[in-house]
Amino acid sequence: MKRAYDVVIVGSGVAGIAAANTLAGHGLEILVIDENPHAGGQILRQNCRVTDGFWEFDPRLGRSGRTVSIRKIVQSLRPIQRPKGITCVHQARVLGIFSDLQLLVHVPDTLYPGGSGSGRVLEIDAGYLLLATGARERCLPFKGWTLPGVMSLGAAQILMKSSGILPARKTLIAGTSPLQTVLALEILKNKGNVTAILDENHLTKKLGLLPLLKHHGSLAGEGAMQMLRLLIRQVRFRQGVRVTEARGKNGLSAVVTAGLDRKGNTVPGTFQTYPARALAVGHGFTANIELPVQAGCALDYDADRGGWVVRVDDALETSVAEVYAAGEITGIAGAGKSFVEGKLAAVSILEKLGEKTGPDVCVPELVRMQKQQMGYASFLNQLCQVPSSAYEAIDDEVLICRCEEISMGEIRKQISQGFVTGGSLKKATRCGMGRCQGRICQPLLFDILQALTGQTPEQIGSPSFRAPVKNVPLESFLHP
Ligand SMILES: Cc1cc2nc3c(=O)[nH]c(=O)nc-3n(C[C@H](O)[C@H](O)[C@H](O)COP(=O)(O)OP(=O)(O)OC[C@H]3O[C@@H](n4cnc5c(N)ncnc54)[C@H](O)[C@@H]3O)c2cc1C
Repeated sequence: MKRAYDVVIVGSGVAGIAAANTLAGHGLEILVIDENPHAGGQILRQNCRVTDGFWEFDPRLGRSGRTVSIRKIVQSLRPIQRPKGITCVHQARVLGIFSDLQLLVHVPDTLYPGGSGSGRVLEIDAGYLLLATGARERCLPFKGWTLPGVMSLGAAQILMKSSGILPARKTLIAGTSPLQTVLALEILKNKGNVTAILDENHLTKKLGLLPLLKHHGSLAGEGAMQMLRLLIRQVRFRQGVRVTEARGKNGLSAVVTAGLDRKGNTVPGTFQTYPARALAVGHGFTANIELPVQAGCALDYDADRGGWVVRVDDALETSVAEVYAAGEITGIAGAGKSFVEGKLAAVSILEKLGEKTGPDVCVPELVRMQKQQMGYASFLNQLCQVPSSAYEAIDDEVLICRCEEISMGEIRKQISQGFVTGGSLKKATRCGMGRCQGRICQPLLFDILQALTGQTPEQIGSPSFRAPVKNVPLESFLHP
């Protein structure tokens, strides 16, 4: 592994791969870094069998002039040997980005045998940097959400995709995310059972959002087919229901839910208890903006794009010259947008370098497709939106920062004492300063502040992050 590359891509999800493949074959030295053991990002964790390969997109994909369908993307991926000029490093974490596009990267010992066993931290220089770091799940805490057996929808997926393990024989699914139906089908495919899908949205809200899918017939069709397949398998659906408590001594044994009115407020007297060993619950996604913030990139807040996202121009260049961003970090919109943006960002970099792109790349069409995907972004993010009343209703005893064990009561107390910006509340409570570096609680803290103080996101302030954005053994810094 060298210390300088023409282009460094962080993230080998759909966006990172699409970019790498477009950049390949132009004589550039390209480095792709990902902390996952394999390429494919969140959507393709199941393709673990490929260890030394790369993933190729069908060149026909995206030229049909139609919306990119997620199923089509997954089907069109197949392993090939790494294209010439691309070095792909997995299980490596980018910890920080400094001026002159210098990256601090933690690499595993497998790359440098004879190390300390803790890996090494390297400095790598990038001529151009493409950030394609994707998204993670949002959550809405409730009493008992730290009990073993309670997990996010994505965590349940990862268990099955990466390790072939079911969360339990029977899993209860809840929240607001479209991942609910995807997960339920995966559980059934793996011979598990789904107790029920408890969706916080009422059917009327979903129907009201359907016009946003006018350019996304294939996605709407896929969603409808998923529902149909689940109904045929007799999976129970309940709409307008929220989990209010998880019960159990050493692990989950029961889940309490409440019915919701049209505004998302719990309705007294509608509580119901489900016996459960596993609960998978999620409330949409938030962009992984830590590295762009580190690099000094400007952010925008847009609820329709999933909250704080990286600001990019039409060429997908950020506010920092030679730093590009693609995929979920510029707006949560699913795999189709990530694919298109990965290609577009690569084309922009090639143009800057004076390189011609191949005949399979049609920029105006990619731009049109990218704009179209924003309709799906609005649908997805509005579907997953949690009303302020849900944050206001969190009990004082519920932990918000799991690493530092900061409760909702403590957060309420500090807000009442005047700590009403994200930065000041973090310093007053240590919320977000623990082991996970705020991966779970940081977006939550902002949502709570918004709900409890009525301030705008801009008044609360955009999040700030310092290196290292991921935790690594201190020892790894001793062997540069
Ligand atoms: C938990 C989860 C499960 C999902 N499951 C599905 C699904 O089943 N079906 C579906 O259609 N959509 C799913 N999605 C949505 C999915 O994210 C998008 O559809 C799409 O795959 C996004 O592509 P991307 O390239 O923008 O990001 P991602 O696919 O998220 O790829 C980003 C990559 O960046 C890497 N990365 C991030 N930070 C660092 C760092 N500091 N150092 C090194 N590497 C880093 C990550 O490891 C990751 O592989 C899921 C999302 C999440 C969060």
